[in-house]
Amino acid sequence: MTRFDYDLFTIGAGSGGVRASRMAGQFGARVAIAENDRIGGTCVIRGCIPKKLLSYAAHYAEDLEDARGFGWTIESAAFSWPALIANKNREIARLSDIYADALAKAGVATIEGTAKLLDAHTVAIGERRVTAQNILIATGGWPSKPEIPGIEHAITSNEAFELPELPRRVLIVGGSYIAAEFAGIFNGLGAEVTVSYRGEQILRGFDDDVRRHLHDEMKKKRVRILLESDVLRIDRRTDGSLEVNLTGVPGNTLACDAVMFATGRTPNTARLGLTELGVELDEEGGVVVDRFCRSSVPNIYAVGDVTHRIELTPVAIREGAAVAMTLFGGVETPVDHDDVPSAVFSQPPVGTVGLSESEAAAKLGEVDIYKTTFRPLRHTLSGRDERTLMKLVVDPATQRVVGAHMVGADAPEIIQGIAIAVKAGLTKPQFDATVGIHPTAAEEFVTLREKAAAK
Ligand SMILES: Cc1cc2nc3c(=O)[nH]c(=O)nc-3n(C[C@H](O)[C@H](O)[C@H](O)COP(=O)(O)OP(=O)(O)OC[C@H]3O[C@@H](n4cnc5c(N)ncnc54)[C@H](O)[C@@H]3O)c2cc1C
Repeated sequence: MTRFDYDLFTIGAGSGGVRASRMAGQFGARVAIAENDRIGGTCVIRGCIPKKLLSYAAHYAEDLEDARGFGWTIESAAFSWPALIANKNREIARLSDIYADALAKAGVATIEGTAKLLDAHTVAIGERRVTAQNILIATGGWPSKPEIPGIEHAITSNEAFELPELPRRVLIVGGSYIAAEFAGIFNGLGAEVTVSYRGEQILRGFDDDVRRHLHDEMKKKRVRILLESDVLRIDRRTDGSLEVNLTGVPGNTLACDAVMFATGRTPNTARLGLTELGVELDEEGGVVVDRFCRSSVPNIYAVGDVTHRIELTPVAIREGAAVAMTLFGGVETPVDHDDVPSAVFSQPPVGTVGLSESEAAAKLGEVDIYKTTFRPLRHTLSGRDERTLMKLVVDPATQRVVGAHMVGADAPEIIQGIAIAVKAGLTKPQFDATVGIHPTAAEEFVTLREKAAAK
């Protein structure tokens, strides 16, 4: 008989923790999971899902305008932020319940409360003590804000989902994908949006053509983007609005009704008792793990955002599944972090997989680039001045497609399909041998014949 209460104790019921715990339970392991907020974690409660619902809402503004070109007359259209937030909240409550049910069905015990490690096998949740053979840290991350005067007046994406009303003027600080997405959401819903970013272009880490293209398209939609701009101070005025002191605007001040920081997320490792146990953390506080998600203490594992690697839900889920497989499925399972596709649900959206042009050039020396920009068919009648960008990055030596990038309607859906080809290592001639589906935007990916001029 084992001397531990559980075979696995998971801290954090988000994407990674839930997947690992459910799978471990299905393998017959005795599993418990602690959660100090709502089951489902960031993705379900304050991340991917509510964000995408809000982004759909924002797009209706353009859809209604575009419909005119197709013969529609829409007499009156009105938007209610409280109705959107209430409907979104109903949906995330439903999803959170589904996650809780799935854990229960897999025989996983759910414990409400904040968990902390006392030693490598003992967890404290309030007054309660629980022991486990293996511990999984799946505590995710939390938005970070800089320490500038008046920062208490600023919100992050967490609070943006719960605002009582739509702010009339919003300043978004940061150039991350979350900043670009919320700029599109607030702008689409009718707010006046300014983005202030310290760097020389938004979406650091993405392909440079994608970064420029999205910037231009956002500008066309009247989002004001300030580059190399720094927010220095925020003051609340007597009328309740905010006055922001920042560089990059005339007079260095901007009046607005909400300031949202989207300047990065910090792994949730403080107060978990990890360093006391000798669990190695990186400079940002992320748990350092090997390719099996094992920390420097052999029975303590970590998955998802808390490891500060690729902070995406499907990655956290993969990592959680791999830990369950390694511990209870009888197969040591590493996680492959190459060619992870991702999207920005901006307006228009971005889809991307593999290497950017500059990454490929640094890795391969030479690269072949195939790209096109065009006005999508839909906008020939809508009259909207929006262009789509599609780009393939090819290794000239092997003809392998090492990167695919798109900005335009349905880019995330299209790139998910292309990602299979990139992951499978398919070549440009194999793309060319594929017959397109006409008329689509996606067919451009199999009809790109001309190499773009080398830069
Ligand atoms: C605004 C936003 C939009 C996003 N959009 C996307 C997207 O479109 N696509 C995508 O793939 N990813 C997206 N992400 C990222 C995605 O949400 C995360 O990568 C994913 O949720 C990480 O899962 P996780 O299991 O590591 O952590 P989380 O889902 O954050 O779960 C961690 C859980 O641990 C709990 N917890 C923390 N500490 C303790 C403790 N001591 N005791 C008990 N419980 C604890 C937390 O309450 C939380 O529920 C988005 C994130 C944000 C913020």
